[in-house]
Amino acid sequence: MLLRDKTAVISGAASERGIGRATARLFAEHGARVAILDLDADGAARAAAELGPGHLGLRCDVADAASCRHAAEQVLTAFGKVDVLVNNAGVTQPLKVMDVRPEDWEFVVDVNMTGVLYLSQAFIPHMRSRKQGSIACMSSVSAQRGGGIFGGPHYSAAKAGVLGLAKAMARELGPDGIRVNSVTPGLIQTDITGDKLTPEMKAEIVKGIPLSRLGEARDVANIYLFLASDLSAYVTGAVIDVNGGMLIH
Ligand code: NAD
Repeated sequence: MLLRDKTAVISGAASERGIGRATARLFAEHGARVAILDLDADGAARAAAELGPGHLGLRCDVADAASCRHAAEQVLTAFGKVDVLVNNAGVTQPLKVMDVRPEDWEFVVDVNMTGVLYLSQAFIPHMRSRKQGSIACMSSVSAQRGGGIFGGPHYSAAKAGVLGLAKAMARELGPDGIRVNSVTPGLIQTDITGDKLTPEMKAEIVKGIPLSRLGEARDVANIYLFLASDLSAYVTGAVIDVNGGMLIH
């Protein structure tokens, strides 16, 4: 039980096969009280109910600062404190550079990168007041290798921005006892790619992965657990690859 008596907020944790949902289940197994924040209000409520009593599922659009502040108020009223924030929500689009329209850029950058800022801002004052907290942020191997798997260049840019933002927050918030780290997964089998990734494409990708398989949502949840728990008490500003060796650098 690595999260006994801890409370955790996870964004983008409603989708059934997603990384956030797997993280919510794992955190609850480790004793945490979990708040699931997602654009999908019904899905968030269902996901929280599935975890058992005491958990919370709320609608939140991470790309909207007011929505983040409102959700944070609701969580803090219900839980009284928040120890862990997992900025996991994200969206992607398989576009080529010349096909990225202004509205595509805004959509992908707003959810993946700006959302990390807005949701963090909603909880930082509370964490600062307690002089403790752990914030984990979702980036991607796409930020490190320039995409090329599924997401377009706007996705790579947004996820690269998350790394800079998280490192800057780690530096600024360290003196307040708040740790900020990032994860960079390779290709994880969730529904984010819709049905656009064919079995042939997957087989081709696996050829470039030393561990010879695609990732599972639980593989990433395990790293979020490490970052959320006191096992990582002296880790901040770090970037942890969860890619089966797809990118070794
Ligand atoms: P998913 O589609 O299963 O989950 C994404 C969740 O985010 C969904 O529940 C969705 O409703 C929610 N969401 C979308 N927009 C939102 C918003 N504006 N506000 C709040 N919630 C919102 O996908 P996943 O694969 O589990 O992705 C989780 C995270 O992992 C994303 O940030 C994604 O970019 C990242 N990631 C995924 C992979 C992969 O291969 N699956 C690899 C690297 C990084």
